[in-house]
Formats: sequence, structure tokens, C-alpha cells
Amino acid sequence: MGQKRIISAWIQGGACTETLAAPASGRAWRLVLLGAPGVGKGTQAELLSERLGAVHLSTGDIFRAAGNLPADQRSPAMEEALGYMRRGELVPDELVIRLVEERRACLRLPCGFLLDGYPRTVPQAEALQKLLAREGLALDAVLDYELPLEVVVRRLSGRRVCSQCQAAFHIETRPPQKDGVCDHCGGVLVQRPDDRPEAIRVRMEVYQQSTAPLIAYYRERGLLVSVPAEGTPEQILQRTLNLLEQRKGVASLASA
Ligand code: AMP
Repeated sequence: MGQKRIISAWIQGGACTETLAAPASGRAWRLVLLGAPGVGKGTQAELLSERLGAVHLSTGDIFRAAGNLPADQRSPAMEEALGYMRRGELVPDELVIRLVEERRACLRLPCGFLLDGYPRTVPQAEALQKLLAREGLALDAVLDYELPLEVVVRRLSGRRVCSQCQAAFHIETRPPQKDGVCDHCGGVLVQRPDDRPEAIRVRMEVYQQSTAPLIAYYRERGLLVSVPAEGTPEQILQRTLNLLEQRKGVASLASA
């Protein structure tokens, strides 16, 4: 596809000057991705973004980018948000909702969007619903990636990311050629603070308490599509495309 799909207006805020056109298929998808940390949701978002031509909008990316800024360039509100993130807790709804509101132009892009990590709570889902209604937009589906808990914990605690280019590795399933060094840019591989075992436990509890009710919320609205998240990323992608195809009857999606 080759078109840049991660947009600075989402990460940094400010005016959205991108004019990403509708995909060649003519079908712009507006999707939410749900799933406990470690189910591979971020990877699927990237693959789906390539395949469907929609922008990948992750609220976690906004916080991580802010965390990489020098401390004197972070607003007090963002500094507070980063504290929650480092402890593996959810950032308060009010702040996250405001960040997404400020970036609403990204939701209007004609190419569609894949929201990854937002909404995380029912109040956030309600805020999104109102925001989309105001913009005259609607979600097409909510993809819920499902995986047994013990698999999730193994995946997360082995994950490493490059401190320079953000490339992802896994000490068991996708090890770098040289221990602790990025294959792509030679940067140092680090463990995300929220991937440490104590933070993982908090995140799983948080997920159960706050995010699992979203499944019921979207099921009631007829938007939920459950996707088993076992297998390789490509297998999970195909499964997702097949499920979307069944839902919407878009003939060429899975084979595009
Ligand atoms: P993620 O990359 O989506 O796992 O997000 C990383 C961290 O950012 C989470 O553990 C939260 O601390 C914070 N975060 C991201 N999105 C949200 C959200 N929608 N609501 C609250 N906190 C969030």
C-alpha cells in the first residue's frame, strides 16, 4: 500500500493536515480493536491498516511519544498521565477523552480508522459514540481479540522494543540476532515499563474490571465481532478479514 498511515496529528495533537484518500476499494472502515494486553492487537492493527488502508490510531502511542519527550516539554496533565501508565493503571477517562476529542479530525479522514486501545472503559465508549454521532460517523464493527490468560502473560513478559525505532521483538518467539540489540537500527532493546511482571498483573486486573464490560456494551449494539487470537499474525489477519467479510458481505476483502 505504501501510504503513510501513522499520522503526526494523532501523536502530537494540533491541526490534521493529512488528506488520506479513501482506499482504492472505495470502502472506508471505521473499527475499534479490543483485547487484553498481549493478545497481539497492536500487530493486527498494523496489518489491518495496511490491508484496509485505514489509519491506525493508538492512544498508548500518544502517551509513549509524550514519555519520550524531555520532561520540560510535557504538560503537567501529560506528566500525571504518564505516572498512571508507568504503574500499569488506566489514565483517567476525563483526560483520555479530551485527548481524543482534540484529535477528532483524525476520525474524519476519508480513509477510515482503526482505534487501538480506545475506548478502554464504558464512559470512554459513550464519549466516542457521542463524538462520532456529532461528526456524522458510525463504527462498522468492534473486533474483540480473545486469548487464554496464561498465553497472554508469557507473550507480554518476553516482549522487547527498540528504544530508538520502536521495532518489536520477543525473547522466545522473535529474538533479535544479537541479544538486546535491534536488528534494524542497532538501538538498545528495552522492556516497556508496563510489560514488567508487576505491571502486567495490574494491567490484567484493570482489563477485567474496566474493559471487559465494553464487550457487553458493543454486543448489545450489534457491533461485536469476536476473533480467536491463536496462530500467526497472518492467520489472525485472514480470520479477521473473513469475519469482516461475513459481516459486511464485502466480496474481495479476504483475497485483496
Ligand atoms: P496500550 O499501548 O494501549 O497498552 O497503552 C499503554 C498504556 O497507556 C495503558 O496501560 C494505559 O496506562 C495508557 N492508556 C492507553 N490508552 C488508554 C485509554 N484509552 N484509557 C486509559 N489509559 C490508556
